[in-house]
Amino acid sequence: MPEKTRRACPLCGAHAERARTLLLAQGAPLLSCACGMMYLEVQQQESDLAEYSDYVGNFCNRHDSLLKAGAYAARSILDGLGSVGSLLEVGIGVGALAQQAKARGIDYWCVEPCKELVQLACDKQLIREEKTLICPIEESRLPRERFDAVVLNMVLEHLLDPVLALKIALLALKPGGMIYLEVPNSRLFTLRAALRRRLGMTAFMSGHINFFTPVTIKECLALAGMQESHTRIVSNFRRGEGEAMVSFYKNAASKLKVIDGILRRFPVDEALGIAAILCCYGRKARR
Ligand SMILES: [Zn+2]
Repeated sequence: MPEKTRRACPLCGAHAERARTLLLAQGAPLLSCACGMMYLEVQQQESDLAEYSDYVGNFCNRHDSLLKAGAYAARSILDGLGSVGSLLEVGIGVGALAQQAKARGIDYWCVEPCKELVQLACDKQLIREEKTLICPIEESRLPRERFDAVVLNMVLEHLLDPVLALKIALLALKPGGMIYLEVPNSRLFTLRAALRRRLGMTAFMSGHINFFTPVTIKECLALAGMQESHTRIVSNFRRGEGEAMVSFYKNAASKLKVIDGILRRFPVDEALGIAAILCCYGRKARR
């Protein structure tokens, strides 16, 4: 691999040479840094972008059912944020949070690099064009100290520089404002990768380049300048999503003895890396 394409640790900045290789994912090393961060060494490739486009196409076809499925989680997020007048979302997904924010009369803004997703949400009148920035967060010119809350739902695991993205989001947040983010929980990553391979699955979802644990996501928030933060492990299974997925993998897993033994010791969703997420709240310092 040419030197210039190698990625340093997105958390502590240590050179990739100093990290340990956990496994090879499609021939590219997945590294574990001495600071505890796990990350893919490669930059995003053309093929990954094509795959993302397929993913978005899938969104479009199943938009109404996905919107319905995401409603409960979106309401939980807003309940957790308490009373907010204005909210910025980074990465809109199917627009579930936009829909719930609108129902509560919240002044909702968003940053979303994917034109197709923006068009879809505009067509369904979930978001407003004049309150939408179509670009990556790193290139956005957001108003300073404008929002009561910023939400990044399943975003940081995709970004080359998650700390930079959080720093930019923090600038847009009012002093004392709240940030909320979700990332997949990678606490049992190596166990999970081995189990998933035994089940004929890829080690992790395509498009993910950063793999956070409760410890490293807290560090990421601190590095971005968040004064206080709170992280908890949540299962989407319990939030009424992914139930069918969990039972599918549980059935598959029960056919493999070694996996069955492990699953008696760990929660099935966390061990297999499905529907296991880290939910983090942070508050920006008051002046
Ligand atoms: Zn590191």
